[in-house]
Amino acid sequence: MHLKVLILGGGNGAHVHAGIAASNPDNEVRVLSLFQDEAERWSKALESSDLVLDYTDVDGKEQQFVSKPGLITNDPKVAVPGSDIIVFVVPAFAHAQYWEALKPHMEPGMVVIGMPGAAGWEFQAYDILGDKAKGITFFNFNSLPWTCRVTEFGKRADIVGFKEHFVGAIRKGRVEPKVDPLKAIQQSLGPLPVCAAYGDLLGMTLTYTNAFIHPSIMYGRWHDWDGKPVSESPLFYQGLDQTSADLLSSVSGEIVAIAKAICAKNADIDLSNVKHISDITLDFYADDIEDKSSFLRMMQSNKAYEGLRHPVTNNEGGGVSPNFKFRYLCEDVPFGLVVHRGIAEIVGVPTPNIDKIITWGQGLIGKEFLVDGKITGKDIGMTRAPQRYGFTTLDAILGDHL
Ligand code: NAD
Repeated sequence: MHLKVLILGGGNGAHVHAGIAASNPDNEVRVLSLFQDEAERWSKALESSDLVLDYTDVDGKEQQFVSKPGLITNDPKVAVPGSDIIVFVVPAFAHAQYWEALKPHMEPGMVVIGMPGAAGWEFQAYDILGDKAKGITFFNFNSLPWTCRVTEFGKRADIVGFKEHFVGAIRKGRVEPKVDPLKAIQQSLGPLPVCAAYGDLLGMTLTYTNAFIHPSIMYGRWHDWDGKPVSESPLFYQGLDQTSADLLSSVSGEIVAIAKAICAKNADIDLSNVKHISDITLDFYADDIEDKSSFLRMMQSNKAYEGLRHPVTNNEGGGVSPNFKFRYLCEDVPFGLVVHRGIAEIVGVPTPNIDKIITWGQGLIGKEFLVDGKITGKDIGMTRAPQRYGFTTLDAILGDHL
């Protein structure tokens, strides 16, 4: 099918999606970047060059995608009209400005895809788009299809790894989507990863794993830190201890309990896409895990996590200290755990472990989200907790008011 693909963003994932999609002549590819002069720089870079993506295929052979996306712009009125699918490939903290920019140009039947949308993506959309959200189909994934990085801005990027399977969830608008959402995203991504969709859209918000993996492991390692520099940055996953693994498992258990409570209130909601972290890890990384004897050993022996270390800053006098300003707390708490906690509050599920981590994390980043057991802190305006948008019922977070 002839497919009009609009990609939002200008970073690693946006380069790769634009390059792969544009390598298929059936796709008409536009990119919208609202960040500084990024669109202008990327456009200029492509005047004298193609966009080249380097990767190694399954047989170990070096391969490339070589293409040229049709349009790179910072102007939503040029980029948005006529799009069949609009794909968010930009960190969550930057999403609000994209929803605002899309809104005046959105047409009923458009399909908007979060890749990843991260936790609370749809709440922000329902709030900003208002009535316009009625005609839109939302399709959220909880990750990016590749591990990738830009090697030369605008011109070249490395795809370090492709996911084999890529599972999301769809919420259809009141208007039939212009294109089949699943076929369309697959066409824009090429044969790998193999895309699928099941369960309610809310399931993607609840299973956005960065939201709880990173803060849980940070808490486990540093909550009783004595403030003295350590000799080197500890391994993030390989260095996990039993207590931290148990905490992460308990936090994930609280999220599964939230999903169960929602389904108990409304039997029509399918949250079978909300799984415990040990099952998610096995689904994502079955071939990468050497020892599946326990959750702790799975995390420690996952080759995909090899060598990843805690974020730290160097100390003048030697050694390193944890960097609490890194995205593992600054983004993953307000755009992750706080969203989960807000949903728990609506459905009345106690979350003692999530509360403990938010209370610790919000202090370190100088914010206030959870106060006296409620998501009412003065900084909820920077989060995507449902309460921030005035959504305080299950119907509201499911988008049933649209
Ligand atoms: P990235 O870090 O490359 O994104 C950078 C881009 O974000 C910039 O180019 C700009 O377009 C935008 N941006 C940055 N600061 C901004 C600001 N202050 N205001 C507005 N826009 C700003 O992101 P990525 O690596 O493409 O990842 C996209 C998403 O996918 C993220 O949520 C990331 O966590 C997730 N992810 C990435 C990878 C990966 O391998 N790159 C893997 C898994 C998940």
